[in-house]
Amino acid sequence: MSDLWRLSLAQMAQGLQKREFKVTELVAACLSRLRQTEPAVEACLAVLGDAALSQADALDKAGPDPNQLLWGLPLTIKDVFLLQGAPTTAGSRELANYHGVFEATVVERLRAQGAVFLAKTNCDEFAMGSTTEFSAFQATHNPWALDRVPGGSSGGAAASVAAGQAPGALGTDTGGSIRQPAGLCGCVGLKPTYGRVSRYGIVAYGSSFDQAGPLARTVADCGRILAAIAGPDERDATVARVPLDDYLSPPPLQPHELVLGLPKQLWPEDLSPPVAETLAAARRELTAAGVRLIEVDLPRLRYAVAAYYILASAEASSNLARYDGARYGFRSPESRDLLELYAQTRRVGLGPEARRRILLGTFVLSSGYYDAYFRKAAQVRRLIAEDIASALEKCHFLLVPVSAIPAWPLGSLLEDPLTLYQMDLMTLPLNLYGGPGLSKPVALGPDNLPVGIQLWGRPFAEASLLAAGTFLENLWPPLGWPRISSQDG
Ligand code: GLN
Repeated sequence: MSDLWRLSLAQMAQGLQKREFKVTELVAACLSRLRQTEPAVEACLAVLGDAALSQADALDKAGPDPNQLLWGLPLTIKDVFLLQGAPTTAGSRELANYHGVFEATVVERLRAQGAVFLAKTNCDEFAMGSTTEFSAFQATHNPWALDRVPGGSSGGAAASVAAGQAPGALGTDTGGSIRQPAGLCGCVGLKPTYGRVSRYGIVAYGSSFDQAGPLARTVADCGRILAAIAGPDERDATVARVPLDDYLSPPPLQPHELVLGLPKQLWPEDLSPPVAETLAAARRELTAAGVRLIEVDLPRLRYAVAAYYILASAEASSNLARYDGARYGFRSPESRDLLELYAQTRRVGLGPEARRRILLGTFVLSSGYYDAYFRKAAQVRRLIAEDIASALEKCHFLLVPVSAIPAWPLGSLLEDPLTLYQMDLMTLPLNLYGGPGLSKPVALGPDNLPVGIQLWGRPFAEASLLAAGTFLENLWPPLGWPRISSQDG
């Protein structure tokens, strides 16, 4: 099997432009890596092999286009993005037979830049979850330890990159779903500022939080994908008209210029030993490299998980009202009247986590409880955002662990939703604030599982976030490859 799948996006781009190999060869190499690893990893819900090869063939016939950022580069796409003519399930039985009838703006932009789509990747149902186990179809396995979760909800995207199925992927982050699976699978994930990237054509979960972004093996590769997808879209009024920056070659950073704030509430004493050990070493290396680390305070952080889950569930309950059996998607055949149609369709079509969120969300929005829960949570969101904003006045970025523990065994927390919610503490405050965040691997911990770290930045500071990420990458280069099948050395 050709080894081309091992290259980063930047290396692939260079090889293609210099005609060292063809797009068809590259795509075939990634597809064969995908087919070799997929029985063990189960990252993909649909493999778009034929379409990808014919896309590749057309690109080869046309010849390299140096103006296209992603010319001939293969990517996987989380199954919440509409891709014309391809299945789009959002991990739900509700949409099991649904095919995109138009394309998400971000997918359209990737295509316009010459990207080739290899597969739609697995995710928690409607992106609700932190392990990808709430997918109605399959659980994805962490490539570093197949009995462990890949994180979620973009677990399929992260696992596909970590396994070498694709050099880059598109995911979404509502409360951490890009950064957390990237951290648990040992790749780089970037959540752009809310409003930097269009949400048009993405299956909605929490509309005031959802943001699309890249996962890849290197920081520069994430910048390349961001450069292709960012910017105003007349079909999404929430995209800001803030000018774009140079995400391809952000100006390099000098360590003595860099001040990182460590929120004391997010560096608790009880980080699990592999995470604590790895990150303590990382902090020493940062200091030795000349970076100034200061402690910052986020006094109201302890309310973040509660506020997020109230608000995100409220938005989800509203967004998911459309899956009623009448408009599109699954329709229960066993109903005699309209009410029964709604009830049966949603009982059979939606999984336990989606139903839990709808119940919670409907409750906090109901007339007797709106003020006590939804309004209060919206106020708390503002206060937490203020805490983060004032911490970011004292430093350039906040430095935060991705997860208090490394990837945990599949099935172990499935029946314990509250613990799962609590485990998002290290990612979701950023979504309450709205700024951009980047997570990247530091090293494999003593248990041979990836340990990641995050940077949080001010709104629209993606370029300097990428520069800081590149600086960290010089200290902690991309991890090697996990050993997935007997053919892996
Ligand atoms: N785990 C969080 C949730 O379930 C975040 C999910 C996400 O970012 N899509 O809401």
